[in-house]
Amino acid sequence: MKCRGDPCGRPVNYDKLVVNYNNLVMEDDALVTNEDIMHWLQRTADVLRENRTYLTELDAAIGDADHGINMDRGFSAIRDKFPTMEAMDISARLKTVGSTLVSTVGGAAGPLYGTAYLRAAGVAAGKQELTSADVVAMLEAFLGGIVARGKAQPGEKTMVDALTPALNAAKQALDEGASLAQITDRAATAAEEGAKDTIPLLATKGRASYLGERSIGHQDPGATSSSLILRCLAETCAGN
Ligand code: ADP
Ligand code: MG
Repeated sequence: MKCRGDPCGRPVNYDKLVVNYNNLVMEDDALVTNEDIMHWLQRTADVLRENRTYLTELDAAIGDADHGINMDRGFSAIRDKFPTMEAMDISARLKTVGSTLVSTVGGAAGPLYGTAYLRAAGVAAGKQELTSADVVAMLEAFLGGIVARGKAQPGEKTMVDALTPALNAAKQALDEGASLAQITDRAATAAEEGAKDTIPLLATKGRASYLGERSIGHQDPGATSSSLILRCLAETCAGN
């Protein structure tokens, strides 16, 4: 993470220090660097591998028991591309993630998440660093990609039920002048709650909808992987 401030790192002369409190939040705010994006993607690949069995078990209850396998397959293919991604800027890295998910993940999640990362890449185009507002815009584009692809509304027991409250929480935090770490943490927490809140929902989109009433009582696997992806972003923004 890079902090805005004196780019030369000059020592502060406290006798002459003038603090403009109006600008303090912005001046203090962190920026997401290209290196942070790489860290986020590496962490996501690790966390999805660690949760491969858990996500697959969730999908066994209301789908075809492959969501963890799908996500791990996609992010393993992305992991293989990390060396070539070193030379890329933020947008090109996110674009590579999106196109790799589309081409390597057979299930619904591949094109859905693929479109999400491709849309996020569009927000980052030409930017060397992302501000808090850029990160919220990226999250909005990410959700927008999933909705454009899958046409799900909130309440249909999909990844949209994690990402919609996450975006709302992030927007509110941004409006309140919260730091980047707080914005992404509040988004991840809202996504985790949103994923839990899919348990009583009836699935009306995707494979789980074939189960009808029997889909009730189970947590949606896609909402869960969305919350993991956002928790990885929050951890990166917290400097972990
Ligand atoms: P598949 O259903 O093809 O086996 P996965 O198991 O990888 O694919 O992904 C299932 C997840 O995809 C679901 O848990 C749900 O969150 C998400 N999903 C399915 N259809 C949609 C849709 N139309 N819109 C948003 N998310 C969807
Ligand atoms: Mg499945």
